[in-house]
Amino acid sequence: MIYHVITTPECNLCCEYCCGKSFDEPESKLKFEPVPEKPIYSMAQLNSFLKKDKDKPISVIFYGGEPLLEIDFIKRLMDSQKKCKTVKNWLIQTNGTLLNKLPKQYVNKFHTILVSIDGGKERTNKNRGAGTWEKVTSNLKLARNNGYKKEIIARMAVEEPTDFFEDIMELIEPKNPEGFAFSSVHWQLDANMWHDYEKRNFLEWSKLYNKDITRLADYWLMEMKKGNVLRLYPFLGIMNSLLFGTQYFMRCGSGVGNFTILPNGKISSCPIMSGVKEYYLGDIKTADPNKLPFKLTVKEPCTSCDDYELCGGRCLYSNLNPVWPKKGIAELCGTINHLIKEMKRIEPEVLKLLEKGKIKRKDFEFLKYNCAEIIP
Ligand code: SF4
Ligand code: SF4
Repeated sequence: MIYHVITTPECNLCCEYCCGKSFDEPESKLKFEPVPEKPIYSMAQLNSFLKKDKDKPISVIFYGGEPLLEIDFIKRLMDSQKKCKTVKNWLIQTNGTLLNKLPKQYVNKFHTILVSIDGGKERTNKNRGAGTWEKVTSNLKLARNNGYKKEIIARMAVEEPTDFFEDIMELIEPKNPEGFAFSSVHWQLDANMWHDYEKRNFLEWSKLYNKDITRLADYWLMEMKKGNVLRLYPFLGIMNSLLFGTQYFMRCGSGVGNFTILPNGKISSCPIMSGVKEYYLGDIKTADPNKLPFKLTVKEPCTSCDDYELCGGRCLYSNLNPVWPKKGIAELCGTINHLIKEMKRIEPEVLKLLEKGKIKRKDFEFLKYNCAEIIP
């Protein structure tokens, strides 16, 4: 089982598609209650809840806001687990700007570091604020120099007018000598999360994005021919299912293999449902992790979609609370249909490379529900 532990809802940045857009957002139909700035439950209460979970291994993803604003909590939880050892894998989803503040003995324990970065210097700083890219790349290099050897996943937020192919290549093979070369990337389209459809021209941009997906699929295959399976998560996840028949309910695992513990001790299906009382599934002080209610499931248009089995419904939260009109959602789904079609197109060649032993099945494996939600 994987738990997102939200150390704080606060953040030290104000990115365009997150805090920036929230100022323009009309009042939601959902009722949000304020969530405390830091955990108000005790370490013993959290550990006792985690210990009861029989679905091993247990993984914890530190999440926010920006989780590293509560470094002391992160250290205390990791230290408290030295004795009981319930948690096998530690992961963190961070904006990366404060990573240098966490001592290396903790950083080096992470199974995965997921860091928000949207491409090169210009793109990232435009979206996330001046100097962000410089800080993040230097902190990642520091982590590597301090001995961190495991996976670092770049998490891109993608929104028009982004030149997607150029941006992702700036992460994989940076032209900027100061850049950090990622071998793992996940990207997420900023779509159907805010009431912004009418202000955008998503359809026109999605045509360019789809072309870039085709180009990227060709590049991915070309690298495989050299024996290198880049961990581009949307590709990796779909290809894994096509090749090996791995099944998912929700690709992100929300409410099935992945739950969120809020700073008030309440449990929800996904981090974005923070503070939505009607979605709470229990409280760590009283709930049995083995009997959390299966309360929320994906509805139409997903359940009758031809790509449902591979897509899983993209995002449980936005499926239940769509804020884009049907037309916009259909355009968004068009990008998913295209991505799946491209994976099916290159599948026979990938299969041949596997049969020849040029690449291996283990190259397509990853920790399920590791915070890379697969469907962009
Ligand atoms: S492609 Fe769209 S409609 Fe189909 S399952 Fe995915 S999100 Fe749902
Ligand atoms: S994809 Fe949607 S439902 Fe899944 S974790 Fe992300 S916001 Fe939550």
